[in-house]
Amino acid sequence: MEQKEFHDVVSIEEAKQRLHKHFKAIPEVEKINLEEALGRVVAETIIAPIDVPPFDRASMDGYAVVASDTFYADEEHPAEVELIDHISAGDKRKISIEKGECAGIATGAPIPKGANAVVMVEYTDRIGKKVRIYKPAAPGENIMAAGSDIMRGETAVREGIVISPRETGVLAAFGAEKIPVYKKPKVGIISTGDELVEPGKKLKYGKIYDVNARAIADAAAENGGEAEFCGVVRDEPESLLAKLKEMIGKYDIVITSGGTSAGVGDLSYRVIDKLGKPGVIVHGIAIKPGKPTVIGVAKKKPIFGLPGYPASAMIIFDVFVAPLIRKLAGIAEKSRKKIAARAAMRIHSAKGRYEYLLVNLVSGGDGTFSAYPVLTGSGAITTLAEADGYVEIPESTEMILEGSEVEVRLLSDSIKPADLTIIGSHCIGIDVLLNLLPVQAKVINVGSSGGLAAVRRGEADIAGTHLIDERSGIYNVPFLQRLKLAGSAYLIRGYDREQGFVIAKGNPKRIKGIEDLLRRDISFINRNAGSGTRVLLDLELGRLAKKKGVQFKELAKKIKGYEIEAKSHSAIAAAVAYGRADVGLAIKTVAEQYGLDFIPLREEKYDFAVPKEKIEKPAVKKFLEVLRSEEFKKKLRETPGLRPCRETGKIINKI
Ligand code: AMP
Ligand code: MG
Repeated sequence: MEQKEFHDVVSIEEAKQRLHKHFKAIPEVEKINLEEALGRVVAETIIAPIDVPPFDRASMDGYAVVASDTFYADEEHPAEVELIDHISAGDKRKISIEKGECAGIATGAPIPKGANAVVMVEYTDRIGKKVRIYKPAAPGENIMAAGSDIMRGETAVREGIVISPRETGVLAAFGAEKIPVYKKPKVGIISTGDELVEPGKKLKYGKIYDVNARAIADAAAENGGEAEFCGVVRDEPESLLAKLKEMIGKYDIVITSGGTSAGVGDLSYRVIDKLGKPGVIVHGIAIKPGKPTVIGVAKKKPIFGLPGYPASAMIIFDVFVAPLIRKLAGIAEKSRKKIAARAAMRIHSAKGRYEYLLVNLVSGGDGTFSAYPVLTGSGAITTLAEADGYVEIPESTEMILEGSEVEVRLLSDSIKPADLTIIGSHCIGIDVLLNLLPVQAKVINVGSSGGLAAVRRGEADIAGTHLIDERSGIYNVPFLQRLKLAGSAYLIRGYDREQGFVIAKGNPKRIKGIEDLLRRDISFINRNAGSGTRVLLDLELGRLAKKKGVQFKELAKKIKGYEIEAKSHSAIAAAVAYGRADVGLAIKTVAEQYGLDFIPLREEKYDFAVPKEKIEKPAVKKFLEVLRSEEFKKKLRETPGLRPCRETGKIINKI
């Protein structure tokens, strides 16, 4: 079904070939002033037109002499020569000396004709017109010969070099005025979508800030382009067409994002195809993320219709647009460092699509790395911000087994260093704690169970967990046994998170407790199965069912919205805030954030598991110190919905 909506989904290679066939990226050259050259790419190897220095010059203050006059000089028998002149730096006169003569000379001044050495002032005495020399000078001593720095005809700066202050210095040394550099390709960027608002403006319900324009413009600049943002365009063919027509007249490369998915009527595709011949050359690429991509060429300019989802847009930019900008800008293709790692969990991949899977790298301590897929997905911009690199998964691979070796391409030159690796469930309390902790921490959110698995593998220094045992209602402790961690990891009591019903401000529906969920005029929003909050709800419902003497199933059936699941605490609060539900179960923190009312139900224990062998690690010790500190407890109390308990910071299991 989806396949059909795209005209013809092609491989990455095929897409690249089509682009190359219709658009040859040939860099152009311009000459610019030296003062504008910093950061630009040299387009032609620059040959030094003069010697630097252009003349023999003194490298010390002293006297220019004929070396042989001084050969037998020493403290007892100084040589004596006649002082005939003084030459300062910049002196334009053509002076010469004879044997038996000398001239006073300043550092940087031209050596007079006939002289072949400079004696430092320190080894001389001047008596009227005579100079006594106490030390022999070798020919060439203290003279910087013409061309000894840069020789005329020598290569001064090579083609392809990005000009740094070192190069501008060299170029200034021979007075270079106009520097041949590659033109920066002009890149025009727009975002499409009725929902988009430019950062800085007010956000209304249903709207989101435009992420792509900023990220794409900066990525274009980073790769050597001259990027310009040309605004947000509404989802309307006429305005988009008018805008794009204007842009292909002005820019070397045109980039839009959004409006590429077949579902929204495929705006970009239709409009790009109207810009001129050949129009759309690629519509749909077998890549993940980023399948709904459009590439067109019109008026000899390439036009990229990137997907709307930020991470997809950036991956497509990286694979197709960045190489093109770099080529036009004369910059070599980016080479990314590779690192071998183990897959930290089983990874499923889309069949028939070449996948770029973003991952976090965690060091196992023995020099090996584990790769954790970043779970936020292509709709999230943080997917890219948090990732260390990506694993490329070929079309034919559908699954990578846990523990198997993968090759990770680093997004930066090095892996983000971390003194402390926290893997597990996400909680704002960790942010509060880390704000008081002067260490580099890497926080990877994989949920409670994922965190405990990372503890078992020794990859996490600390795992935040809030798993509730369905039978006993006890938090975390039973799971250490269940996951065979009881003897090998400490469980440290964290803090309490208040969970309860999130309801509209002022409680218009007069909800008092769990029994109200059964009312016909109340709509509920549930958490996803498997989440701790969901387990808690079902536990409470089970109790209610017992009390009422009915089946759990019967009770659940009566709740309007029991089967509608939201995946996070925030999503529950947002649903209630925007009137999509009357009530949901979540932590108090989000109720406060959304200005909603809250009916407490039960405390949830948010604890920390630490592998036995990590407990003495300095950063872990510091973490625990802060956890136990009064300052942290005070800050925690100021955070709505979180509060320390008597055991905060205590080890609660025996090893
Ligand atoms: P579209 O291809 O227009 O259907 O967009 C796909 C998804 O990406 C939608 O959820 C859009 O709201 C989102 N999106 C599109 N453009 C942007 C943008 N510039 N910044 C952030 N999200 C965007
Ligand atoms: Mg859109």
